[in-house]
Amino acid sequence: MKVDGVCALVTGSARGIGKALVERLLSKGAKFVAVIDINRELGEETVKNFKQTYGPERVRFIHCDVASERQLEKAFEESYSVNDRLDVVINNAGVVNGPNVLRINLEAVVRSSYLAKKYMSKQNGGSGGVLINMSSVAGFIAGWDPTYTASKHGVKGFSLALTKSDPSFSKDDIRVGVICPGFVETNLIDNHPDKEAIKKISWAIPMSQVVDAFVMIIEDDTKHGCCVRITKGKGIDLLPMKTFSEWASELQLFKT
Ligand code: NAD
Repeated sequence: MKVDGVCALVTGSARGIGKALVERLLSKGAKFVAVIDINRELGEETVKNFKQTYGPERVRFIHCDVASERQLEKAFEESYSVNDRLDVVINNAGVVNGPNVLRINLEAVVRSSYLAKKYMSKQNGGSGGVLINMSSVAGFIAGWDPTYTASKHGVKGFSLALTKSDPSFSKDDIRVGVICPGFVETNLIDNHPDKEAIKKISWAIPMSQVVDAFVMIIEDDTKHGCCVRITKGKGIDLLPMKTFSEWASELQLFKT
């Protein structure tokens, strides 16, 4: 799918990686991008600047706490209604600490993925689309805050199961991907107690490389069910995920 002309929704895009992705989508010709964020002040400021550069019709701020089922539903309704279309949904909003890590990082991603299906599904009059969820390298390892780690393992597993175990997304022509970046310098860790120690980590990757990975999945129609890891050592690499039957046969699970 070409980015040129798409209608997209990006959660957590008032700042950081989400904001950089919105800017790339607009600069590549997206018809419309909904900037969904809980931070009203920052979101309005971000969108004001984008409107000046890219035109007032092409971007809109929608205030929404993704952890609220009702607010998320309304954000989808409003984003869809602008052009009666949604082609790309990016579940990027996330936090590293606080009481709602699982609700924001995992539960909201699950709920939002099914809303993406509702609005992009061919059965509901849509024309298919691309869904990409934000995990992390913390979705592979046990070397980070336990609850954050659990949320990111969950996002990776859920997103891949949507294509490996749930055929309905494929039937509706909705491609699904999951992005797992290493450390990127953003404000994500501002309220984390280990902030100073984390900042000393020397393996930060450029934000633009994470944005490149999102665009790669959107533009390459062969990418479905793909898990993209981004690290300083190996750059952007695609990791194969096994289906249950492949895994069972490798482990000779059913051998008598
Ligand atoms: P960031 O803090 O700069 O941006 C996150 C955005 O999400 C903010 O604008 C924030 O207001 C918004 N947000 C938070 N809670 C929300 C909620 N309940 N509803 C709506 N919006 C909400 O952080 P970032 O580094 O750009 O992180 C974006 C995503 O990338 C997160 O999911 C994060 O876990 C993931 N990630 C980040 C890194 C990194 O090192 N920065 C690495 C891997 C994955």
